[in-house]
Amino acid sequence: MSKQYDAIIIGAGIIGAAIGLELARRGWKTLNVDKNGAAGFGSTSNSSAIIRTYYSTLDGTAMAYEGYHYWRDWAKYVGIEDESGLAQFRECGCLVMKTEHNGYLEKAMQLSNELGIPHEELNAEQIQAWLPGADLRLYAPAKRPDQEGFAEPTEGEIQGAVRWPRGGYVTDPQLATHNLQRAAEAVGGKFRFYAEVIEIRQANGRVCGVTLKEGEQIDAPVVVNVGGPHSSKINALVGLNERMKMSTRALRQEIPYVTPPQNFDYAKLGMITSDGDIATYSRPASGGMMLLGSEDPDCDAKEWVDADEMDRNLTEHAMTHIIRMAQRLPELGIPNQVRGVVEAYDVTEDWIPIYDKTDIPGYYIAIGTSGNQFKNTAVAGKMMATLITACEAGQDHDRDPVQYTMEYLGRTVSIGFYSRNREINQDSSFSVLG
Ligand SMILES: Cc1cc2nc3c(=O)[nH]c(=O)nc-3n(C[C@H](O)[C@H](O)[C@H](O)COP(=O)(O)OP(=O)(O)OC[C@H]3O[C@@H](n4cnc5c(N)ncnc54)[C@H](O)[C@@H]3O)c2cc1C
Repeated sequence: MSKQYDAIIIGAGIIGAAIGLELARRGWKTLNVDKNGAAGFGSTSNSSAIIRTYYSTLDGTAMAYEGYHYWRDWAKYVGIEDESGLAQFRECGCLVMKTEHNGYLEKAMQLSNELGIPHEELNAEQIQAWLPGADLRLYAPAKRPDQEGFAEPTEGEIQGAVRWPRGGYVTDPQLATHNLQRAAEAVGGKFRFYAEVIEIRQANGRVCGVTLKEGEQIDAPVVVNVGGPHSSKINALVGLNERMKMSTRALRQEIPYVTPPQNFDYAKLGMITSDGDIATYSRPASGGMMLLGSEDPDCDAKEWVDADEMDRNLTEHAMTHIIRMAQRLPELGIPNQVRGVVEAYDVTEDWIPIYDKTDIPGYYIAIGTSGNQFKNTAVAGKMMATLITACEAGQDHDRDPVQYTMEYLGRTVSIGFYSRNREINQDSSFSVLG
């Protein structure tokens, strides 16, 4: 016997759980299905979970600043008790180096001014106060270890940075997803695990449900693809990939954890750093460690992968990130053995997500989160719920884009910005920075 819901959300990662929650809060009978065994066990579990308020576009920046407020008020947003506790947002701030490549952050500061996002400019001396012992010589352009000049300074020095105090990281992204699951369940939302969708069924010109691997059919007039790095595989079930201008692909990432430099009190001073000159970002991690990630420099070949067959072992890439960070922080120890995680982003051509309807009535997509949408969780959930509700009530979003008014900023934005059929956004950084 098939079961009936108002909406089936494929995926119970942080974005899928938020969409389930927001629809359930609007009275929808929702079901999140996930092939994993628990919420947030997909790419969310290995997210760096950095919450920052600087982006390349006005819409991206506004969404990030709006998203920040929900993390700041997480208990209020979740609104219930979770027996596992609530995820913690550590507001340690973000320090971003000014480089030629990022236009010395002029545009990011202008966007921050426009949106009233607090920030302060730092000169070289002030950078040293936050990063004692930093070697501020320039190393750009980033190079691979097999290229001449790797780890050797080029000409000049970092002259300044910008510190955005409203930012930090979420200590446990999986727990945050569990919080959303519990919040959704509190208003009637359901979750099914170990449930892999292998078919999206259609009848009478619209979706009508999904079929699970074991053959079980579940019915709903609305199906939402929130499959993370599996998004293109799910779209392939309905032949959608060829019918959108944008596409999504899984991009492999290595995230090493290292012991922070011993020459300063990292527990006290440690914050998010984003350093385009050495193409590396960092953040404090549990156990007093420092987490490192790549800012995807041109010299590094992109590892496009099949999300089901990705090699989850760290390779020399993780060591490259560590050596790049040690260019800036010479006191950083280079470990003999590297620890860390391997995960995939779900990347679009312009590294901006797709939050949209499709040309199949009832089929929606929240995909292509490009390594930068964890921070936007609540906003993405609310935007998708607004979009789905409006489209199901008859609005033609492709011709008359649905608008969304942000609750904290009071700003109204067009959800059409995230269209599957947009032109590539040339304002993007074309990297994980969005
Ligand atoms: C290494 C890394 C670092 C990141 N760092 C940051 C950061 O610092 N800040 C930031 O804002 N963002 C960051 N991100 C991005 C952010 O984590 C993601 O955008 C977000 O977690 C995606 O959530 P999701 O729910 O869309 O996808 P996922 O968490 O990947 O969830 C998708 C789910 O779909 C399920 N699924 C797939 N196919 C099927 C199927 N056929 N049937 C049933 N279930 C299926 C999977 O099992 C999975 O659980 C990072 C991402 C990565 C990978």
